[in-house]
Amino acid sequence: MSVSDSTSSYKAVIYADPPSTKTEVVDLDIPEPDVGQVLVRLHYSGVCHTDYSFCTNGFVGAPPTMKGQIGGHEGIGEVVKLGPGVVLPAVGTRVGIKYAADACLNCEPCLLGGETSCTQVKISGFYTPGTFQQYCLTSAKYATVIPDGLPSDAAAPLMCAGITVYSALTRGGVKPGDWVLVTGAGGGLGHLGVQYARALGARVLAVDHGSKEDLCRSLGADEFVDFSQFPANEPPGESQMAARIRELTAGGVKIALMCSSNSGTYEQAVYWLRFRGTIVCVGVPDNAAVMAGSPMMFLEKELRMIGVKTANRQEAVETLALAAKGAIKTHFEVRPMGELTQIFEEMEKGMLRGRVVLDLR
Ligand SMILES: [Zn+2]
Ligand SMILES: [Zn+2]
Repeated sequence: MSVSDSTSSYKAVIYADPPSTKTEVVDLDIPEPDVGQVLVRLHYSGVCHTDYSFCTNGFVGAPPTMKGQIGGHEGIGEVVKLGPGVVLPAVGTRVGIKYAADACLNCEPCLLGGETSCTQVKISGFYTPGTFQQYCLTSAKYATVIPDGLPSDAAAPLMCAGITVYSALTRGGVKPGDWVLVTGAGGGLGHLGVQYARALGARVLAVDHGSKEDLCRSLGADEFVDFSQFPANEPPGESQMAARIRELTAGGVKIALMCSSNSGTYEQAVYWLRFRGTIVCVGVPDNAAVMAGSPMMFLEKELRMIGVKTANRQEAVETLALAAKGAIKTHFEVRPMGELTQIFEEMEKGMLRGRVVLDLR
């Protein structure tokens, strides 16, 4: 599927009937970039679990998704037209579109580098047309330039999953030689978490189902713990799995990168940590009450727990720079736009391995 410059319409996938997973490929007119915007001819877009949650109204407290919404926030393409007043990125530049499609850059979260929590943030694929389309308008100041040497299809999943785990690790204070534990290590977020932790000099303990052990070790995990080999409902403080983790890491890990949304892992995470260890919350469990541990435990070991939504612009640049050096291998499969419903259904059943990237060419 390709669109020549002479045509004025293009293909987009819309959420046809939220909260169902029904999607539809439609023809739309190519829009004109406004002040501060660029028009991007998208080539690939990753499909994130958050897209599935938007399509199915899965986020409690969020407004319902509109019928006809174009989802997606892991888009890579080429700038083809500049809006009035825009100089950079120039026509022909390869850029990426992230979860935050635009931010004001002046509010408190923006000034502190937390642009994705901007009071006026525009979320790509939720009340702002996203990246499941061949053409997308985006903010010139917020698009991320993709470095040479990084293929567009492999770069797509980095625009959400990659930048999120990178910023989670760096904000968690990772140092060379630290033990980093990654939950859901064989999944879409986790497989990048393992590799970024390695690239930042850490030792990695991967936690996942035994069927993911070979994958995790091939990504560079130093140790692997198969959660399915331990009893599920032990009191967190007496967890045999936590004891095994402390044993493998001579006293516990410095960072627990929580990529899995499994609440059981959150319950015992505090027992995995060594002195001044940090839990970094990234994956979101469905139920609310999940943390164990007492203020006294936090005080005695001087522990921290932080949450990371996703990266800011500078962190996105750093994430891509590491990948462009060849340190990161994204596991993904490329599929046609028309299969989005099927992809969501496979996601729902936990059938996907690695990331799915839509071919928008
Ligand atoms: Zn995402
Ligand atoms: Zn702001």
